[in-house]
Amino acid sequence: MRLDRSQELYIKMARYVEELAKSQNLNMRNLLSIVYEDSVYKTAYETQKLRGEFSTFREVAKRDIETAISKPWATDGKDFSTRIWENKAQLINTLQTEMTRSFMIGEGAAPLINRIQKRFNVSFSNARRLVETETAYVQEKGMLDTYEALDVEQYQILAVLDMKTSDICRHLDKKVFDKKDAKPGITAPPFHCYCRSTTTPYIDGITDGTGDTRAARDPVTGKTVFVESDLSYEEWYNKYVKNTDTGALIGLKTSNGITIAKLSKHQQERADIRNLDLDGIRDALINPLHIGEVVVKENGNSQRFIGETTTVNINPDTGVVITSWPTGKSRLKKYKKGK
Ligand SMILES: [Zn+2]
Repeated sequence: MRLDRSQELYIKMARYVEELAKSQNLNMRNLLSIVYEDSVYKTAYETQKLRGEFSTFREVAKRDIETAISKPWATDGKDFSTRIWENKAQLINTLQTEMTRSFMIGEGAAPLINRIQKRFNVSFSNARRLVETETAYVQEKGMLDTYEALDVEQYQILAVLDMKTSDICRHLDKKVFDKKDAKPGITAPPFHCYCRSTTTPYIDGITDGTGDTRAARDPVTGKTVFVESDLSYEEWYNKYVKNTDTGALIGLKTSNGITIAKLSKHQQERADIRNLDLDGIRDALINPLHIGEVVVKENGNSQRFIGETTTVNINPDTGVVITSWPTGKSRLKKYKKGK
């Protein structure tokens, strides 16, 4: 079958739109995943900071991200993927109509291109609106999931107040809702397209400024302890989520009295790529199942600490952590029996 020029052009266009939708879908998925994860961690940080107490926060599971971004949330029951495919189908449809009409009346290429351009622009602004709304939702979802995880009972609406603030958001600003009543679009942002409102945890005695809980009381001694109030988000993230705060190992005393001075370059690099089990290293050094003899080597002596999960080699003279790896099963068996 021979295709005439218009058919050929149409097929090319349709293929282009198809590719466009596919990459849109993929990009959107990536974007929403990042936004969700980011929102969870930032909310956890803000909440802990507000409470004046930082603690370990579990990493967001891939499965939770998937659930958060794939769940249809708007009243029409469509997810972002469906919207993109619908947008695509609509665009192809209009392109087809435009082209058929153009060839039937035999007009030149210029007006056709002009009109197609306009269609693409409409489609583009649809896509942009979609990105804005979906991102706002996923961000909010990340916040609410974290409130749930950290037992925050109430949250407060925070509108961006300027000339562009919508009436609805102007009215909702500073309103406090129970987390259990949170519903996007009604009691939680986004309240409308391009909504810039967000939420913040509402904690009695802190958010309203009636109490001073920034200095936490040690539950055991009853003494007021200093809180790491100036811990930045990055520091918090490395220490409490990724557990790559290698600084926490420095100064640590091993069970046989060696003070850890620093990590070898190799170990620091592994911390950077989050391939270092800091808890395991700490445990091996403080609480070893077995400590090996000092091995004398030309480039520095070495001593092995076999821990429950991690085995560590350190230089007993300099206190440098040379390397670490997961403790093998047979070793674990052998030394655990002896304990
Ligand atoms: Zn708004």
